[in-house]
Amino acid sequence: METRNCQNCKNDFTIEQEDFNFYEKIKVPPPTWCPQCRQQRRYAWRNERTLYKRNCDLCQKSTITIYSPNKPYKVYCNECWWGDGWDPASYGTDFDFSRPFFEQFRELQLKVPRMALLNKRSVNSEYTNHSGDNRNVYMSFAVFNGENVFYSTWIFDHSRECMDCSFIYSKGERLYEMIDSSTCYRCQFGLFIKDSTDCFYCYDSRGCNNCFMSSNLRGKSYVFRNEQLTREEYMKRIAEYDMSSFETREKLYAEWLDLIKTKAIHRFVVSERSINSVGNLIFDCRNITESFEVNRGENCKYIYSGPDIKDCMDMYHVGMNSELCYEMQGCTRVSNCQFCHLCYDDLNVMYSDTCQNSQNLFGCVSVKKGEYMIFNKKYSKDEYLNLKEKIIEHMKQTGEYGEFFPPQIAPVAYNETQGAVYIPMTKAEVLQKGWTWEDNTPGTFGKETIIDLPDKISEVTESILDEVMKCATCSKNYKIVPDELNFYKKENIPLPHLCPNCRYKKRFNIRAPRKLWSGSCKCDQESHGHEGKCQVVFKTSYSPERTEKVYCEGCYNREVY
Ligand SMILES: [Zn+2]
Ligand SMILES: [Zn+2]
Ligand SMILES: [Zn+2]
Ligand SMILES: [Zn+2]
Ligand SMILES: [Zn+2]
Repeated sequence: METRNCQNCKNDFTIEQEDFNFYEKIKVPPPTWCPQCRQQRRYAWRNERTLYKRNCDLCQKSTITIYSPNKPYKVYCNECWWGDGWDPASYGTDFDFSRPFFEQFRELQLKVPRMALLNKRSVNSEYTNHSGDNRNVYMSFAVFNGENVFYSTWIFDHSRECMDCSFIYSKGERLYEMIDSSTCYRCQFGLFIKDSTDCFYCYDSRGCNNCFMSSNLRGKSYVFRNEQLTREEYMKRIAEYDMSSFETREKLYAEWLDLIKTKAIHRFVVSERSINSVGNLIFDCRNITESFEVNRGENCKYIYSGPDIKDCMDMYHVGMNSELCYEMQGCTRVSNCQFCHLCYDDLNVMYSDTCQNSQNLFGCVSVKKGEYMIFNKKYSKDEYLNLKEKIIEHMKQTGEYGEFFPPQIAPVAYNETQGAVYIPMTKAEVLQKGWTWEDNTPGTFGKETIIDLPDKISEVTESILDEVMKCATCSKNYKIVPDELNFYKKENIPLPHLCPNCRYKKRFNIRAPRKLWSGSCKCDQESHGHEGKCQVVFKTSYSPERTEKVYCEGCYNREVY
């Protein structure tokens, strides 16, 4: 184990022997930034949810894109980008050994057309990014095989009729404001809910139906504020609430937050069927360290969102069978790839941006089905291997090798990225680092046509679709779209008073941060056999100053099961 000083935040960080082994295996020097700063650098490249309208630079049609119209890139609509109307190799450039790599890479980025956004095989789902195989999905991000999904993020595995949800891992249906949940039907406002139906304002419940404002339930029905009722009594109590009223909903929401914060029992992390693994929201993992939102991971460290991933380090939204990858952002089905951004279906690709279905690329931009290319120029296999090694040696001299692309050359501005969500910085702080800031982000202010929204959804008519509202938090204008109104009417939900982005941030704030702290079990239940307070220590996603009842696995299981 070695202690190093982070070149970004100047704090010390440690590199373990197992990390050195990994770096050795893929022949990269150890990192000079600490793990958190490395993730921030990857965040700075991911514009997941800031969408613009811009004309395609090939067909000239208006398209939805993650690049604001003032960005100095060529942007092609998805049809043109994937089409045969242009050749990425025509932008091929010789590498100049008298200059730094990233400087030349930036010049290539400015020349080669960029994909408007990542949205594949979808119908009526233009306003989606990092998404695929969807039908009628709107303003949603990282949604796959979804149908009628609106204003939601990270919705997987055939979910449908979901509105304002975050992290539905599989098969959600008719959900509203659900977080970190799976296989639920007709549920609203829930965190860690699994296999449940008709549950409202619950926390950590499984196999339940018809439960209300309750926590830590297993296989229960008709539980109201954690009290078991008869079906009749439950229905009677529920009927006392006018769920269609915004005023009622606001009170229930506050009570739900209080239930989570002060009454519910929290497991120190969510880790299911995992062996020898440390992280939060990890499922079916083996030998995973310091990772978050990982499914079926093996021998990995510093993973932030990765389904099916093996022998990888430092990944952000990468997976579905990826191996031996390092320092990547937004990549899928990639093997032995390092330092890449938005690359899909690739093998042996390094330092490349938006390259698809390719093998053996180095320093390429927007290559499709390419092989043995450097700076978009084609070479024979031997030429490629020689030149690649020479450039790597050059990059070692310049100190660039072994580091992810710097935020300075990110094609998107920091305030458009997930960096602004997970690690917010002011404009001054961003510019001081030499990173970029976008002043013309989407949205209007001061154009509202309606001030007082009707309290009950039953009082809302179709005319609301023509109105412009003002967000109660950020003052930005927002509108209601027809599918959204239908959903509210069908599910008896009052109109939201916040814009979609502030609704997203509210859910974001309820979720555990992607960080682990050392902590100890807060349980002092005498029946558990520990004298006084339980002494078990762990790595937890709850920071020490938080007041939730955070229990170790043993105490949690004794209380909940
Ligand atoms: Zn750092
Ligand atoms: Zn086009
Ligand atoms: Zn807002
Ligand atoms: Zn305990
Ligand atoms: Zn205990």
